[in-house]
This record gives sequence, structure tokens and C-alpha cells, in this order.
Amino acid sequence: MKWDYHFGVNKPYQEVEDGFVPALRDFYENPDNYAIAPFQIFGNLWYVGDQKVTSHLIDTGDGLILFDTGYGHTTHMMLSSIRGAGFDPMDIKIIIHSHGHFDHFGSGEELRKLTGAKVYMSGVDTRLLREKEERALMAWGPCPDDPICWPDVLIEDGDHVVLGNTDIHCVLSAGHTAGTMSYFFDVTDGQKVLRAGYFGGTGMLGVYQAFCKKFDLPLDLCQQMKQTIQKLRGYKVDIMLGNHPAQNRTLEKRAYMLESGENPFLDSNAWIEFLTALEERRQDFEDKGY
Ligand SMILES: [Zn+2]
Repeated sequence: MKWDYHFGVNKPYQEVEDGFVPALRDFYENPDNYAIAPFQIFGNLWYVGDQKVTSHLIDTGDGLILFDTGYGHTTHMMLSSIRGAGFDPMDIKIIIHSHGHFDHFGSGEELRKLTGAKVYMSGVDTRLLREKEERALMAWGPCPDDPICWPDVLIEDGDHVVLGNTDIHCVLSAGHTAGTMSYFFDVTDGQKVLRAGYFGGTGMLGVYQAFCKKFDLPLDLCQQMKQTIQKLRGYKVDIMLGNHPAQNRTLEKRAYMLESGENPFLDSNAWIEFLTALEERRQDFEDKGY
């Protein structure tokens, strides 16, 4: 089975910004329609996100690690997914955010208060947000007045986050934001050990010069993304995890899993195929002068 990958609309920046909230309005008003049942990707790795943005849970044997907390108005859905997967949200010890945008850390504050988990995020993105909070794009979200979910622990390139049986290697992956992080870690079903890779931000927003100028961001993020893609090609990944379900066809793969009984998430070619498709898209944006 061959999967294609999807990186959002390909049009000038102002059209993207103008269309952003209208395209999500129904989700903002009726989030429950976008819930999906949680599912086991492999062994101790679970999908607990919704149809719009991913969240992944690892059972480390000594507490849970949650990658990304979705939008701010979907906390109840995340809690229900975690319980539906057979876990107790109170066992979350670590929440790790992929980058400093509202749609990935949105429920982080509420979950931290509820569970006492420590929140981790990229030091680079945190410093950029401290300088200028507008960079979190809260105004584009369903809860524009919510505070930013400031991390308890800053993650820098090369750091390892360890809990129970899990050791997460954190790799700076600038491009979507200057501080986007990718995460690499082993997962296991008790017999096989496989390597999972979570690319923490592949949307083309940071590639737009107009966006970077508007939010006073580095103007070379497009070239930084090129270098990131090249660097990440060197990592071996058996299970490629997406940031938004559409990017790596999470929902289609889940449907295929249920239909066929096969597990399309276990695919050692997917990481490189995804990076190749991403670089083609990035080059296209560069050629168009966006
Ligand atoms: Zn983002």
C-alpha cells in the first residue's frame, strides 16, 4: 500500500491567513464532531488526538508521556480518548509540545493543572514567544484569550527526555517555526522494539516571507527547513508520526488497519517518503517566491 502525503494549501500567504479561521469555524463551534476513537499504533504507543491535530501517548511503564495537547477547546475529548485507550490521565507525568503554536499546546495548561504533569517545549520557540506572544497565533484559534502554555522545562537540540522504559531523543527541526523539535524514541509490544519518529512541524507557514515579516521571524526559515529535511533523512524510523492527521494520512491508515487487519503504521520507508514529499513542496514554495 502506497500512501501520499499532504501539506496544506498552496497559495499566496494572505489567502492562507484569510481562509484559516473560516475553514476551521465548524470545528471551533462543534469540536465533538471531530473526535475519533483512540487506537493503538503499536505496543505502548497510542493515538489520542482528533481529526484535526495529532496527540500521541506512550505508556513508559512508569507513567505516561503525552506528545502535544491539541486545540484549547478539546481538552474533554483528549481526556476521553486517554480513558478510552485504557489509561488514567492522572498518570501523565510529561507533556511534550512539538512547537509554539496554539493548535499543539492548546489544552496543555488545563491538563497540567489537572494532572500535575511537567510541560516540556523547545527553548528556541519559548524564547521567541517570550519576546512576542503574537507568534503563538492564539488569535487564529478557538480560545484567543487563553494564556500561552509556558513550559516547565526547556528542550534544546540533542536533549534526551527519559521516563520509565522510554528515552526520547530531541532534535531541533527549524522551518515551520524556528524552534520546532522532532522526537525519536523506541516503542515496544514486549517482543519487537521499533523506532518511532515524530516530525514536530511540517506546515509551510514559516516558509512564507510575508508571514515571517508580519511576526518578525527569521526570514531564512525556508532554507532552515531545507537543512532540517536533509538532516532528518539520516534518522532510521520504523513508525512515522504526523503532526496533523492529514499530513501522514493517519485517519486513512487507521481505516485501512481496521479493514485489512494489517498495520500500515509499521513502514520503514514512510519517513524518507514523507521527507521527500515535504522537500518537493518546500522547493515549490521557494520557486513560487512565496
Ligand atoms: Zn504550527
